[in-house]
Amino acid sequence: MVVIGAGMIGAACADALALRGLQVAVLDRGPVAGGTTGAGEGNLLVSDKGPGPELELAVESLRLWRELADDLGAHALEYEPKGGLVVARDPRAFAELQASARLQRTAGVTAAEVPADALGELEPHLARELAGGVHYPQDAQVQPALAVAALLRRARGTGRVRLLAGTTVTGLAEGRVETDTHGPLHCAAVVNAAGTWGGEVAALAGATLPVLPRRGFILVTEPLPPLVRHKVYAADYVADVASGSADLQSSAVVEGTAAGPVLIGASRERVGFDRSLSVPVLARLAAQAAELFPVLSDVRAMRAYRGFRPYLPDHLPAIGPDPERPWLVQACGHEGAGIGLAPATARLVAQLLDGEKPFMDPAPFGPGRFGKEQS
Ligand SMILES: Cc1cc2nc3c(=O)[nH]c(=O)nc-3n(C[C@H](O)[C@H](O)[C@H](O)COP(=O)(O)OP(=O)(O)OC[C@H]3O[C@@H](n4cnc5c(N)ncnc54)[C@H](O)[C@@H]3O)c2cc1C
Repeated sequence: MVVIGAGMIGAACADALALRGLQVAVLDRGPVAGGTTGAGEGNLLVSDKGPGPELELAVESLRLWRELADDLGAHALEYEPKGGLVVARDPRAFAELQASARLQRTAGVTAAEVPADALGELEPHLARELAGGVHYPQDAQVQPALAVAALLRRARGTGRVRLLAGTTVTGLAEGRVETDTHGPLHCAAVVNAAGTWGGEVAALAGATLPVLPRRGFILVTEPLPPLVRHKVYAADYVADVASGSADLQSSAVVEGTAAGPVLIGASRERVGFDRSLSVPVLARLAAQAAELFPVLSDVRAMRAYRGFRPYLPDHLPAIGPDPERPWLVQACGHEGAGIGLAPATARLVAQLLDGEKPFMDPAPFGPGRFGKEQS
């Protein structure tokens, strides 16, 4: 078995396959977690998803993250089951948030309404003039690069996983993976976990997968004493996530980290792989974060970084065999949720490769759903 990509999805797939007794080679043209995984955040969220296949995948994935934290040690992943708090600025937004929480509850999500006067008990530094919020205790957090390392360590510990970093896949055919440094590798199946580059890798086999980059910036503050207890964001964030527009969307998602800096995400825009730093976007994120947490107005930003989310037009990942090439299993296009969705994605991939009944219907993630269209 060859897994292309040593990001969060590739690492989770390699681990799941190795635990089933399969021999796996993990290939990455760069270092471990050197793609989007090393350039994002580690929110594990059910709160931002409406009922449907993605939420079903997320609920299972968060359950698996809890198992991983038990098995590998929460410390090894910087796993923090801190819960999420979504807040509404006005009564209309609060009513919409409450309606969405009611729907989410029917899909296995725990969501507790928080009246405006109780928000301060959950988040003492939160702005006072909010209309209310919903608390999501299932939401959690990991440090993505650490999580990748921990999963690959366990996978390699089985003795069945080889990691070939610095190895670019240059060609794909049934039973054969061409590489630049290790010659051809022979294998029964290939898992395409190449994230934002998943479309390029699929094309090596003649398959079509319209994965596009969706850029996001993260602002990192100086280390602070604990100020923010949950992942906190305004309800408008959910609309930003769901938007298909190429234009800039931004709404602050604020989270503390074990090391002290507060991470402020997240902007979204489709500008190709443009790596230039956008001060206006960062200023907008900072202002939105300070609106939620006025105490952040006086805090210095230490640095900022950007990454490119693997975006598919319907915001769902591609998981499963290519319809015309069953040996090529796609596992990419998770956009802004690839860390959260990784363990359940890996479980689906392993079940599909093993011929086992999958834990959920994988049809909505079917890679054939885009036909031969190019975006
Ligand atoms: C700003 C930002 C914030 C985010 N916040 C969150 C969050 O809070 N929670 C969440 O769940 N998700 C978040 N995400 C999204 C998440 O980071 C991604 O969905 C996830 O990292 C995708 O993982 P991956 O393994 O599919 O891709 P990647 O980590 O990009 O891994 C793919 C790998 O494939 C390799 N590769 C590509 N082509 C080849 C080739 N030809 N040969 C060999 N190797 C190849 C690349 O080098 C790369 O390492 C965020 C993303 C961004 C940008």
